[in-house]
Amino acid sequence: MNLAAAGLHSPRPRLRTATRVAIVGAGFSGTMLALNLLEQADVEVLLIERDRHRMGAGVAYSSSESAHLLNVRAGNMSAFADRPGHFCDWLASRGLGCDAAFVTRATYGRYLRETLAQAMEIYGQRLKLVDDEVLDIEECGGQVTLGLVNGGLIEADRAVLAIGNLPPHDPPAIAGAHLPAHRYIGDPWASAFEEGLDKAAAVLVIGTGLTAVDVILRLVSHGHEGPITALSRRGLRPHRHVDGLRPKPVLAKPAPELSELVRWARGEARRGDWRLVVDSIRPITQMMWASAEAEKRMRFLRHLRPFWDVHRHRLAPAVADRIDALVASGQLCFRAGKIAGVSVERDVLVISWRPRGAAEPVVTRATRMINCTGPQGDLLRSADPLVKRMLAAKRIRPDALRLGLDIDRDGHVVDARSRASDHILAIGPMTRGDLWEVVAVPDIRVQVSALARRLVNAHWTGGEGL
Ligand SMILES: Cc1cc2nc3c(=O)[nH]c(=O)nc-3n(C[C@H](O)[C@H](O)[C@H](O)COP(=O)(O)OP(=O)(O)OC[C@H]3O[C@@H](n4cnc5c(N)ncnc54)[C@H](O)[C@@H]3O)c2cc1C
Repeated sequence: MNLAAAGLHSPRPRLRTATRVAIVGAGFSGTMLALNLLEQADVEVLLIERDRHRMGAGVAYSSSESAHLLNVRAGNMSAFADRPGHFCDWLASRGLGCDAAFVTRATYGRYLRETLAQAMEIYGQRLKLVDDEVLDIEECGGQVTLGLVNGGLIEADRAVLAIGNLPPHDPPAIAGAHLPAHRYIGDPWASAFEEGLDKAAAVLVIGTGLTAVDVILRLVSHGHEGPITALSRRGLRPHRHVDGLRPKPVLAKPAPELSELVRWARGEARRGDWRLVVDSIRPITQMMWASAEAEKRMRFLRHLRPFWDVHRHRLAPAVADRIDALVASGQLCFRAGKIAGVSVERDVLVISWRPRGAAEPVVTRATRMINCTGPQGDLLRSADPLVKRMLAAKRIRPDALRLGLDIDRDGHVVDARSRASDHILAIGPMTRGDLWEVVAVPDIRVQVSALARRLVNAHWTGGEGL
């Protein structure tokens, strides 16, 4: 690797052992892949994380806000695919009931960190946590070399990208508007967006999904009393969970076409609760997605994604109650429309937006505007140093729908010449283009367990194992 040309520092001495896997990113995906690998084989794992506060917990579960609850019931949040009661047992061992169905994300983060700490005791030197950022990965002579921001190099037999979602993009009307940083927050995960904000100030939140709900709750829990407007094209809000519904295996034989499945789902929803329909489809959505051609996937994203997202990713009842109360009090309002332009007048944002179905724009003034359009996966628009370097070197490419990384069936990244890498793999939300449903814990835990098993056992099937 030409590290000097890549702008990296001079290399440190190289490490080398027999069977070593380097995992980039220690959120849920990376951490749980590490633990699955260590359980299944005599490997050495390096878990590399650039933000030490996120080690073991990642973006979602390093939140310390008590208002941030899991959006999946505790009973379905075990970190291990083969131990469904693992999280509930952990809760019970700390005197916490699993009946408190939606626990805080901070509690879940503690669970993950403690599980990682236990693994460090069990596996000793076989598990190393590396507090650094990976800037490049190169494949050479049956090995991978990872270049770190501090100038070090790591050599390994496999590298796995577990880098999570990419930060949100600026909406088109805002990109290039050069708004002052204290007025416009482009990435709420990367900043303390409530800091320096007058408690009575008007805030505009762009987006009405789960990220918007998170941001609104954090603003309010930090004492914000001013009006909050949440704006998205359709103004759709995530729905709430309802207790007591049990999904049933509804399809004796899965419909072969996505369109057929949509027709079936509409019919079933007319007869019963739509939540049951969505939950019943979940076990087969990955299969449906895999069998759909690119054009059908594209149509799904264009027409159905916003509806799917608000029905599929739901709010804990307590969170939904708080949002309803804020709406009822008049502090929060949801609007449907599209931003046409933003200017700054006397240090206040003047946002011109066109309500859905209206011909004329209206104007809203705000002291702060927060981009809550949610995580992105389009590599070509990313400023992430590792993604940019690997793209420029043609070692990775976007999937056909630009939802993330192009990977083959076994999780190897595919390069610009359509060649699947032998040694670099990817897991987690960036593999959405291939699997679609790989964003939440119940899906990722299955993905990482399957990948660990595949890597460890590949020699039995003639594949490239560890
Ligand atoms: C706010 C939020 C709430 C959620 N709530 C739930 C929930 O209640 N239930 C549920 O099932 N799912 C939930 N999810 C979805 C899902 O659990 C998460 O998306 C999942 O945790 C993803 O984990 P990850 O490890 O893939 O990504 P991340 O958590 O984003 O972790 C990736 C890590 O990689 C690191 N990294 C990236 N690039 C580099 C690099 N070059 N070098 C070193 N480190 C790097 C990052 O710093 C980061 O810590 C939520 C997601 C979010 C965002």
